Amino acid sequence: MAVWVEELWVVVLFVQLVDKIMKNQSIITVKDLSKIYKTDVLETIALDNISFEIKKGEFVAIMGPSGSGKSTLMHILGALDKPTLGKYILDGENVENLDDDQLADIRNRKIGFVFQAYNLLPRTTTVKNVMLPMAYAGIDPKEREIRAIEYLNLVGLSDRLKHTTNQLSGGQQQRVAIARALSMHPSILLADEPTGNIASAQAEEIMAIFQKINKEGNTIIMITHEPDIAQHAKRIIVIRDGKIVTDSSDHKQKIINDQKNEIN
Ligand code: ADP
Repeated sequence: MAVWVEELWVVVLFVQLVDKIMKNQSIITVKDLSKIYKTDVLETIALDNISFEIKKGEFVAIMGPSGSGKSTLMHILGALDKPTLGKYILDGENVENLDDDQLADIRNRKIGFVFQAYNLLPRTTTVKNVMLPMAYAGIDPKEREIRAIEYLNLVGLSDRLKHTTNQLSGGQQQRVAIARALSMHPSILLADEPTGNIASAQAEEIMAIFQKINKEGNTIIMITHEPDIAQHAKRIIVIRDGKIVTDSSDHKQKIINDQKNEIN
């Protein structure tokens, strides 16, 4: 074999190895985590000693009935709140002991939020909406525009760059919000009931976009109470009364059916 062919093989094997290591990298580690809300008269255990890990490139749905602890977990994963007990490591950084400023910093650097309410400026163009957080982050204006157009293309809105967001449908507005989150190159995309305000055909489009951006390597964590939405994720974690009752990638359909039966 020619020497250059051997060298090429070494490079290919090395790239494959790096890719494997990267994919196995833990992006989220939650260990023995509890959240207890205390008032003078009452103590509510919203999260009860939960542990799980999420690796880079996963697409995870967190499901559960109302009152199960989904929002509490979302707030902690999103560095909007701290646990009462236990560990939370996000992309190599311990989050559980940070003060409010440090939480804001890690939130800005590592988390792309997609909320049920899109939180867009209504009389501002899609491009400017996407550019806004990048402006706060001090990214160069040229780069802001390049990225805004790139990510609006990615979510299928290349023909809506000059529209203001109040001229868009709910599904399109949510796509702008996704482009805005991705343009900051976050470590995780954290979506809280992302299709809650959207008609079902458009909700399917949003899920198709999530699957596409996940295939491109983005890590997605999606909180939802809707089984039809959760089934688009690769892994489903079900919580009830603050505890994880199911965590699986293998028996997705059974989990979805069980959840549907529980609702009906
Ligand atoms: P979900 O999002 O699944 O509906 P939550 O995380 O909002 O659930 O709530 C989990 C539990 O914690 C519920 O019993 C709720 O009443 C309680 N809880 C949530 N927030 C607070 C709070 N700020 N103070 C006291 N109890 C709370």
